[in-house]
Amino acid sequence: MADCIFCKIAAGEIPSTKVYEDDHWFAFRDIEPCAPVHILVIPKKHVDNILAFDEEYNKNFADFFLVIKKIAEAEGLKENGFRLVINTGEKAGQSVFHFHAHIIGGREMGWPPF
Ligand code: C5P
Repeated sequence: MADCIFCKIAAGEIPSTKVYEDDHWFAFRDIEPCAPVHILVIPKKHVDNILAFDEEYNKNFADFFLVIKKIAEAEGLKENGFRLVINTGEKAGQSVFHFHAHIIGGREMGWPPF
């Protein structure tokens, strides 16, 4: 999408600290980390958020959790775990409207989150 900052990051047009890339996925460190490990995982094919999914788009997500697992293991999060956050919609805290999953780890976390 022309004016999407995360599309530009995935395309390498805006610099980021990349931690993972394959044909469908791109992952980079959040510029305002809220934990020692804070990574954003984004699909290269634009979608605003889960509410914009349809059955066709959902096929792109077949390997989503395996990508999350691969990154989490590479970041040393296997032993103590991590939190996966997908803010969906402005009122739920979504500020960038290109689907992204936050992988947050490296510190203790409480529940509920806020
Ligand atoms: O879930 P939400 O939409 O609020 O998350 C967007 C995240 O994208 C924020 O944590 C913000 O720090 C991050 N961000 C980034 N690099 C940018 C713009 C936003 O890491 N250039």
